[in-house]
Amino acid sequence: MSPEFASRVEYDASMAKRTSWHVGGPADMLFTPRDVSDLSAFLNQLPSDVPVMCIGLGSNLLVRDGGIRGAVISTHGALGALELQGETRVRAEAGVACGRIARQCVKWGLGPAEFFAGIPGTLGGALAMNAGAWGGETWNHVVDVDVLDRSGRRHTRQAADYDIGYRSVQGPANEWFVGAQLEFEHKPGVNAQAIRELLDRRRETQPIGEWSCGSVFTNPPGDHAARLIESAGLKGYRIGDASVSEKHANFIINHGAAHAADVEALIAHVQRTVARVHGVDLHTEVRIVGVPA
Ligand SMILES: Cc1cc2nc3c(=O)[nH]c(=O)nc-3n(C[C@H](O)[C@H](O)[C@H](O)COP(=O)(O)OP(=O)(O)OC[C@H]3O[C@@H](n4cnc5c(N)ncnc54)[C@H](O)[C@@H]3O)c2cc1C
Repeated sequence: MSPEFASRVEYDASMAKRTSWHVGGPADMLFTPRDVSDLSAFLNQLPSDVPVMCIGLGSNLLVRDGGIRGAVISTHGALGALELQGETRVRAEAGVACGRIARQCVKWGLGPAEFFAGIPGTLGGALAMNAGAWGGETWNHVVDVDVLDRSGRRHTRQAADYDIGYRSVQGPANEWFVGAQLEFEHKPGVNAQAIRELLDRRRETQPIGEWSCGSVFTNPPGDHAARLIESAGLKGYRIGDASVSEKHANFIINHGAAHAADVEALIAHVQRTVARVHGVDLHTEVRIVGVPA
């Protein structure tokens, strides 16, 4: 690696500090770019055999206890531009928090962007996951995205270049989102109170504020993972310091001292039990990365 970047990389960087489950081993290297050109230059000089992964706010990530080999790029607090382009089009960089997009769109009188308030991640993570809430989905609003490839070259890709599904986005491999153009509509009367009410309602049904990654499993067609888990008697089931939430059965809580291995073992236990009781295979929505200890 070039000396300039070698001195700016954090080695053995804690991933537990950077994920909402607060578990997992360190990344070999963590790089926070100054802007998109800086990230492009970093990728360009990084030896091609070093694996690369991009993270936002770590709100959908289970990092195993042995950590992540290679370089992790952190976009939050780095790629943070958010601007209105024309009447209803918004351009945002990948590190912008979804909540900020929701609040800013309300100020601009645009919607429906309120659903972004329910996603405690970045736009980059929301693009990678097709995150959604309250009936809204990220890719319903994407016009095009800017990506960098492994050698740092920038490309603009149209929404049609991706195969989009429920919490699923398939596109060119080895590319990372650095920004997107999103299209909304004029929404007269939209206000911050509407967002507060949605969040209040959510707090009544979800263990917000505890260490979790939101919904662990995607909903199987025509059903809800939470219903299946609850009716299999798994609420409160505990492994180490991780347990299935009593409040919302599709959440797994780290009570403070859980290891990633506890969370992963609990995920496997829930999958086995739901398959035995209901004959349904649950698939993880959370992304499990890294190596075991
Ligand atoms: C309390 C709670 C509630 C939640 N509620 C919801 C909800 O209602 N709806 C919902 O959809 N999700 C929900 N989530 C999950 C999570 O917030 C979303 O999946 C979010 O989009 C993840 O964004 P992030 O920035 O945290 O991504 P990370 O967790 O950092 O990464 C997630 C994935 O995206 C990839 N990624 C991140 N940034 C980029 C990038 N720039 N380019 C390419 N790939 C990238 C990562 O490699 C990883 O595979 C919830 C989570 C929590 C903790």
